[in-house]
Amino acid sequence: MPQPQSLHPSVPESPPSTDLPRPSRRLAAIPPSGTIAVGRQVRALRAQGIDVVNLNGGAPDPAAPWLSHAVTFSPDMNAIGDPAGEPALRQAIADKLRRDQSLAYDPNQIAITIGAKQGLYAALLALIEPGDEVAVLDPAWVTYIPSVRLAGGVPKTFALDHANGFRLDGEALRRALTPQTRAVVVNTPHNPTGRVFTVDELDAVADLARRHGLWVIADESFDKFVFDGHRHVSLAGLPGMAARTVVLQSFSKAYAMIGARVGYVAAPPAVAAAVARFNEQVLSCVSPFLQALALDALDAEPAWTATLQARYREKRDVTVAAVRALKGFACAVPEGTFYVFADITSFGQPSSDFARRVLDEARVALTPGSAFGAGGEGYVRFNLAPPLAVIRDGLDRLRNVFG
Ligand code: PLP
Repeated sequence: MPQPQSLHPSVPESPPSTDLPRPSRRLAAIPPSGTIAVGRQVRALRAQGIDVVNLNGGAPDPAAPWLSHAVTFSPDMNAIGDPAGEPALRQAIADKLRRDQSLAYDPNQIAITIGAKQGLYAALLALIEPGDEVAVLDPAWVTYIPSVRLAGGVPKTFALDHANGFRLDGEALRRALTPQTRAVVVNTPHNPTGRVFTVDELDAVADLARRHGLWVIADESFDKFVFDGHRHVSLAGLPGMAARTVVLQSFSKAYAMIGARVGYVAAPPAVAAAVARFNEQVLSCVSPFLQALALDALDAEPAWTATLQARYREKRDVTVAAVRALKGFACAVPEGTFYVFADITSFGQPSSDFARRVLDEARVALTPGSAFGAGGEGYVRFNLAPPLAVIRDGLDRLRNVFG
């Protein structure tokens, strides 16, 4: 009988195993996102024919007009482009950053990504070594912590000062820092609280970053959603910060292109080049067709932003007034973003149970604050991307249950 041959001569052949190989722990350990989990509940109810108002997420209103008279897919788009992104789009972005925030970026400091989400992951891979700690604010967008873990880092949260309207507290960040900390993630305007952090609050982050030699990942995806004289300040614009900051940006919010999946990073040249290297190996490039749509979006400025801001201010004002009239609910007026973060502590229920109750009794989907971390417990988030008529329907249903 011929003996089975070992694949490698120095490794003795082991007896046959009946165990199937298992997928890696790296992805199995990532819990499902809280917003996607609510989306699943909505789909399950709708599949049973139940009418649900979805204020957990949804297609943005106003819709981007340039998407409906969209660019045709021309033969020159049927190509693998520059992994960093199309030169014309990167130039238009550099011009926009100069116009909006007086930030001086060369196009070679811009890398186009599949939404801010992929920009975040690629930036983390570009900035941290396995085992490095990354400070992340709490509460915060659901994706930061899983992305830090996927990139091999260790997330360390620091709490926003809840008692003072979710102020960004430099002292809390300082306490979260250790010799292993390599980067800090800050998001302004802030999802889910609607805060637009002030220069003083951001200066505290910049000061710690300079003193402790940290990278800053500044997610500024909501830069166009600022109201009532609040001003978006880019961390990259603070003294000495451009050299240690990676700005994350998205076409999903400000240009209502959530399904196009286009975003970008603006970063020091070596970091932008590293993100382009990631793109080259993992996605070749963001579809040139979708990049052409993003270029159309920038051409729609500034009229588009004015329309966007007026519509979202109206949706915010209608929602805040209605939420404040609901028994047991309280909320601050959001300074920015398109979220209203409502305090439901008076109900004495965990926010996930409360959100489920709202879904079952009022047939309105809200996001439980706990989806955004321990610091979001006691709150539910209203997403105001849907049209005002849909929001009004949701608010009426809430009034019927909690009025
Ligand atoms: N950054 C923040 C703060 C967000 O809230 C979201 C989506 O909700 C994103 C980024 C996602 O951006 P993109 O669609 O470009 O991946």
